[in-house]
Amino acid sequence: MKIYVSGLYGGGNPQPGVGIVRSVRQGYPDAAIVGVEYSNRVSGIHFDELDDLWIQRPWGELDLDSYGERVRDVLDAGGMWISGSDLEAMWLGSVFPDGHRNLLAPPMAGIKRITKPVVEAASGLPVRIPPYLSTENSDWDLHAFCRKHDWRVWLKGPYYDASRTPTWDAFTAIRNALSKVWSTEKLFLQAHVSGYEESVMLSAYKGELLGAVSMRKRDITPEGKTWAGDVSEVPPAFLEPLRRMVRDTNWTGGGELEMVRDASDQLWLIEMNPRFPAWVHGATIAGHNLPALLVQAASRVPAEAAPALSAEFTRVVLEVPVRPDYPLPPLPEPFAGAVGHSMKHPSGLTALAARLHKIDPDMLDVALDSRGGEPPSGVAELPGSMVADIAAQDFDAMETPQYIYLDSTAAGLFKQAADRAHRLSTNDVEVISGYSIKTNPDKRLIGQALDNGFYAEAISLGEVQAALQAGFRPDQVILNGPGKWWPAGLMPRERMHAVFCDSIADLDRVVAAVAAGEMSAKHVGIRIRTPNITSRFGIPLDSPTTFGKLIAAVKRLPTDSAFAVHFHMASSHVGVAQWWHLFESMLRWCRSIETLSGRRIEMLDMGGGWYPDDWHADETSKIAHAVELVRAMLPHVRQIASEPGKALAQPSMALAMRILEIQEHENDMVEAVVDASIAEIPMHFWQPHRMVRQCAETGALQPLGRGKTYLMGRLCMEHDIIASGVRLPEGTRAGDLLIFCDAGGYDRSMSYVFGRG
Ligand SMILES: *Cc1c(COP(=O)(O)O)cnc(C)c1O
Repeated sequence: MKIYVSGLYGGGNPQPGVGIVRSVRQGYPDAAIVGVEYSNRVSGIHFDELDDLWIQRPWGELDLDSYGERVRDVLDAGGMWISGSDLEAMWLGSVFPDGHRNLLAPPMAGIKRITKPVVEAASGLPVRIPPYLSTENSDWDLHAFCRKHDWRVWLKGPYYDASRTPTWDAFTAIRNALSKVWSTEKLFLQAHVSGYEESVMLSAYKGELLGAVSMRKRDITPEGKTWAGDVSEVPPAFLEPLRRMVRDTNWTGGGELEMVRDASDQLWLIEMNPRFPAWVHGATIAGHNLPALLVQAASRVPAEAAPALSAEFTRVVLEVPVRPDYPLPPLPEPFAGAVGHSMKHPSGLTALAARLHKIDPDMLDVALDSRGGEPPSGVAELPGSMVADIAAQDFDAMETPQYIYLDSTAAGLFKQAADRAHRLSTNDVEVISGYSIKTNPDKRLIGQALDNGFYAEAISLGEVQAALQAGFRPDQVILNGPGKWWPAGLMPRERMHAVFCDSIADLDRVVAAVAAGEMSAKHVGIRIRTPNITSRFGIPLDSPTTFGKLIAAVKRLPTDSAFAVHFHMASSHVGVAQWWHLFESMLRWCRSIETLSGRRIEMLDMGGGWYPDDWHADETSKIAHAVELVRAMLPHVRQIASEPGKALAQPSMALAMRILEIQEHENDMVEAVVDASIAEIPMHFWQPHRMVRQCAETGALQPLGRGKTYLMGRLCMEHDIIASGVRLPEGTRAGDLLIFCDAGGYDRSMSYVFGRG
């Protein structure tokens, strides 16, 4: 009996080959086991249970046709082959689409049905698939997905590599790297699921389930890979659908379903692998030798019984002698640009991926739910008002780069917000908004705020003055932030609407100023520092000592002003779900503050920090729910305020620029230099911008989709790249006009003069 085993990589994120060899040896002490590898750098080739080695050229150099013939000869001659590598299993699937009696790996049709993220073959199992979104969608939609899932998301390739992308710039950088390393644009984002990881391993031959076992991770490596685990029987409610799945896919070989069990006991399927897992021998130790069952089914030679030594296993690190005919090579050169799984490149897996793409372009595609109909276009729709506002500009006379104010868009947003506040207000609780002047102090935006019944939210006395000059009365001003006394001498003497103290020192200064008649406000309150989410603002309350200080300070506040509480945490940053969680937690803190200080909270201010779409789209019901919650938990509150800034300002301006030069490179990569730069669009690494080109002939606005173009700023600075992965419409030339929408928030207000002579 001769058994070929591949996938002998033995680093911290190992392949299963060595475990398979140990298990086969346990079941068949006399079998000849041949280790198959594609690099002499793989340490598993030195494992002493191997009777022979079959070392090939790396995947990038192998003649795949003749290698396929040699594998066929081996199988025809009675050798059995257990693949320990996903990509090798896929390649074998392409060489033997209908399998081979001695090839102990799944058929191509089966492999295609387990592609991430949907894992269609597993649809009968009691598991759910975490929400996902293909990266073929527009950046606009991808950013929305990340916010919705609190930036707890993974960027994944169809078969390999997964990376957490906690910020937009991490997402764009990892997307570029993964697409390049694995030669595919087809990646997907998937929501993270918190819970404990567990797996089911299976062994099957020609559609018959030979055995299956459950394993819970009990210790993990820094990469999250199993270091120790416990092994148990698969429960019948899982086993029966698993048996059907194996039959439906006509599965042969090993397989692993990687799952997370959440706090409510729901299992989420993360992925299915077309091979045994690296911990395969841990199950053999527990009396479930799945590789031996596989060999037994193929050979009809009974395996030795597998005694259960323990229901738990752990790993140790062992030194083994190096085989004299494969002396150690020198240290490898660092592999530039390597990410994640591609680090296992000694055998050239990334080169194999590129070659598999050529064999079958669909083979490595991500599998998406097809119910959605048309594939995503990668283009973000522009609201009609934006299109009209842009079309109304006279670009011919315009010097670029130039911010343009989108008149009707701005007016529409302010009106919409005012109408909603009005709708949600009742006789006893009023809902108001304060426009955050800091976000964009453009007079036209401040004017919109005034006209629509907003309050003015200022974080400096300079901003207070800007509000007063624009026509706000002092009693329409909310003063906030750590720098509210700057610049000196500008504090209005008239009664303001609300003042929030950012620290206890600030509070004592406010108390003294009010007592001295130097300032006055209808509401005087505190900003509280959000517990558990790092913030430099507000008064902390997350230890008994600090909370005691906060209560004592609240008791010092003037009693002829109403008491108010403010908290602020940007949902655009921490995510929408997390923001609502925080909101409810804040209400409970507020209740404790009321009880312990004896002061009733009459105004609650929820701050700003909303992404425009999250603030405007369909949030009425959520905010109505928030109002209900406040009513129930803080019955003395008469006014609920929010302080939107970018929700209103960001869509209200766009940046017009012209293309200076277009350079085409290999593989469709294009670099286009524009006359704008990171100095005018400094938020490009925080948020996407919807982009259009104005057609030079027709004047029509054409959206930029996804592609391989980089938009380079005019500055002679390495990092001045304001967009990547876009596609310029057909016929784009130097001199053409591009418009970056969504630039009216911090892009505008934090832009700087640079490189202009
Ligand atoms: C900046 C700021 C806002 C507005 O934040 P956006 O992210 O622009 O919505 C609201 N309130 C306070 C106190 C601020 O400092």
